[in-house]
Amino acid sequence: MEQFDAIVVGAGFSGLYMLHKLREQGMSARVYEAGDNVGGVWYWNRYPGAKCDVESIYYNYTFSDALYKEWTWTTRYPDQPSILRYLNHVADRFDLRRDIQFRTRVTAAHYDEKTRAWQVKTDDGKTVAARYFISGVGCLSAANRPDIKGLDSFRGEVFHTGTWPHRPVDFTGKRVGVIGTGSSGIQAIPVIAAQADQLYVFQRTPQYSTPAADRPYDAEHMREVKENLGEIRTRIRDSWSGVPRSPIAMDRSALAEPPVQRRQTYEAAWQHGGWIHSSYNDLITDAQANETVAQFVRDKIRSIVKDPQVADKLTPDYLFGTKRPVIDTNYFQTYNRDNVTLVDIRQDPITEITPDGVRTAGTEYALDALVLATGYDAITGPLFRIDIRGKDGMSLQDKWAGGKEIHTYLGLANAGFPNFFTITGPQSPSVLSNMVCSIEQHVEWIADCLCHLRDEGLDTIEATVAAEQTWSRHCAEVAHTTLFPRGESWYTGANIPGKTMPFPIYVAGVNVYRGICDKVAANGYEGFALTRSGTAR
Ligand code: NAP
Repeated sequence: MEQFDAIVVGAGFSGLYMLHKLREQGMSARVYEAGDNVGGVWYWNRYPGAKCDVESIYYNYTFSDALYKEWTWTTRYPDQPSILRYLNHVADRFDLRRDIQFRTRVTAAHYDEKTRAWQVKTDDGKTVAARYFISGVGCLSAANRPDIKGLDSFRGEVFHTGTWPHRPVDFTGKRVGVIGTGSSGIQAIPVIAAQADQLYVFQRTPQYSTPAADRPYDAEHMREVKENLGEIRTRIRDSWSGVPRSPIAMDRSALAEPPVQRRQTYEAAWQHGGWIHSSYNDLITDAQANETVAQFVRDKIRSIVKDPQVADKLTPDYLFGTKRPVIDTNYFQTYNRDNVTLVDIRQDPITEITPDGVRTAGTEYALDALVLATGYDAITGPLFRIDIRGKDGMSLQDKWAGGKEIHTYLGLANAGFPNFFTITGPQSPSVLSNMVCSIEQHVEWIADCLCHLRDEGLDTIEATVAAEQTWSRHCAEVAHTTLFPRGESWYTGANIPGKTMPFPIYVAGVNVYRGICDKVAANGYEGFALTRSGTAR
């Protein structure tokens, strides 16, 4: 059986950097990747209009000055082709491909207590052994294909935004249906509407979305940015979300300002583009403050969408930001087009998909193509696709009661699963942060930890049950100081029938979180049991 120091799952931002760090430390590693190239979610998400909603200059690695200087982003928000080009460049520049096995899915990883090694099985029928098993599967890589009666009978083409084909898709002259109005649907809808003959949008829940105001970066700005990586890195790390916040009013409560001034603040943020919720410091902690921004966006929707009945259907009534907020390019404007129809499936539910289209309680919509923008079995979904078993054959799925209970230490490690690490795992800042910032922090922490184990001659590291309980409790307590757990969203599995999980994200901020992780390491990996040749310390 082949043996490695570490096996890493996934060749996206996490897996690529993890491999680079392991190699730097002289460790042997193999990365398994289901796709036939690098990129992770950015390899699969090729739907029309796919873009990142974190600004380019922050949504990239900051560990290498040379890499940062040699790559030039051309627009404020990076589109999917640019991100994929960037990750291919990273793979080539650091010669990473030779340790990545593509077109291979990890199916199982079992910890063998006798050898103190992980046995990792892949779908090519092989098993390899490694001392460390590291997940870089990401939080949003298990596509949610909805269980709608008759879906397989549809005669036209069916696409999922998260597994878009790698060939060009042309909707010209076609009648297209889009189910889902999350970030993916909201990005794809305006682009598909401009191409298709007719577009029918099947909306279950309306969304708060604000303009991205994407624009080209000018050369002078990029020159300055490249010269100031040190400062940018510090600002990213010192921020709450891994994105330096805009300076607009964020040191104040929304309720501390008179309504006229507050609207001016929101208007300035709206015109500036991007995340409006950093306009004040209590929009996500105080329901009354939250209502001020929610009402501002509702008014905007009503002012953009010409047909008041369509505007009504597009207007959300829940707490702003408790579903993942979205930024868009001409999303609401798209409903003013003659070839776009909004179907509110809460009022007129989909009853089945027929060979010819979508049937709702009231109408039948004839379609040539159907786009499922129905999101992901998020956060736990990608991990549960692998049969991960720790000590005594305990599966991760059983330990977390299928996702109904999540217990981790720092979102990085699990009691009962020695030498297993989850990059951006549940109960870390993950999806409520700039993922690349959080990935770099986890990868560097894990790499330092593995060095420590090697230097000290230690065999295993395992979170203690007590540390895990304390962390999970702390994570929940912090979440409940915010409005996040009050929303119905994929954060808690509300999008998947039968799935409910406790709020799985650590929301004290990437700055606070980094400090905690660093302190744990500085205190000799407090909260972990470290063992050497069978002895615990
Ligand atoms: P999503 O936010 O979960 O949205 C899925 C949409 O499909 C929702 O409108 C959902 O309605 C609807 N839906 C799900 N199942 C359905 C069913 N059975 N019948 C009818 N409608 C159904 O998924 P996403 O848009 O792919 O985005 C997921 C996350 O990926 C984002 O929140 C973001 O974190 C990330 N992402 C980021 C970007 C970016 O950077 N710009 C782009 C794309 C994705 P309900 O709301 O009622 O559940």
